[in-house]
Amino acid sequence: MIRVLVFNEFCHERAEERIREVYPNGIHGAIADFLGKEEDFSVKTVTLDEVESITPALLAETDVLIWWAHMRHGNVPDEVAYMIRDAVLSGMGAIFLHSGHHSKPFRYLLGTSCDLTWRESDDEEILWVIEPSHPITRGIDRAIILPAEETYGEPFVIPTPDKLLFIGHFAGGEVFRSGCLYERGNGKIFYFQPGHESYPTYYNEQVQTVVKNAVRYLAPAYRCPSACPQVRHIKDEQYVMHAQSEF
Ligand code: ZN
Repeated sequence: MIRVLVFNEFCHERAEERIREVYPNGIHGAIADFLGKEEDFSVKTVTLDEVESITPALLAETDVLIWWAHMRHGNVPDEVAYMIRDAVLSGMGAIFLHSGHHSKPFRYLLGTSCDLTWRESDDEEILWVIEPSHPITRGIDRAIILPAEETYGEPFVIPTPDKLLFIGHFAGGEVFRSGCLYERGNGKIFYFQPGHESYPTYYNEQVQTVVKNAVRYLAPAYRCPSACPQVRHIKDEQYVMHAQSEF
C-alpha cells in the first residue's frame, strides 16, 4: 500500500459559500475521495487546524504528502515545514498543488521565492504534455483542457526543474511551467499548477489521473535520513557495507 497524507488549509471552503458549493467536503475531501478508490492507496487527511499533528512519526508513516494551501502559509510553524523538508530529503514524496507554490515546505525545499504572476479571469487553460513517455503523464493524450482556471504566468521563480512535464497555456496568452519534477536528497517533489478553489478542477478525471500517477511515481523505494558520518576504510575488516548501519 502507498500511504498518502493530504494536507489542505481548509479556509476558503469554510469562509465562502461559493467555494463550499464546489467542494462541500473541502478540497482535501475531494482529493481523498478519488485517491481512496485506488486499491493500492491508503489515504489520510489533515487540515491547518490539525497542523500540530504533523510529526516526524506521522511523516515516517507517509509515503507521499499532498499539499494544498493558499491564505495561511504563515500559520504553518517553521518546525513543521522543516520536518517536511527533512522527510522529503529522507525519501518521502511530496506533491504541491496550485497555490502550494508559496508554501513554506515548497520554498524551503527549493530555496527560491517561488513567486509568479497571476490573474483571476476565468481563462481557459490548455495543459500541454511535454514528456509523453513519463509515468506521470501516462494516460494523458496531448493536453488537458480546463474550461476555466486561475491564470498563472511566468516568471515562476523556481530552480530549473529536473523534468518539465507540463506547460500551461492560458487564453490570455500566458504560459507557465505547470508540471515540475524535482529530486531533492532521496525524495521526489512534483509541483502541479491547476486547482484554484473556485473551479471544479479536482473532479476532472485527467487531473485526477495525473495526481494518481504522481503518487505512484513519487512513492519511495528507498528511505534513509541524511547524515554526515565518519566511516571506516572500505578495506577495514570492521567495515559494514550497509550505509545505514554506520549512521
Ligand atoms: Zn488560486
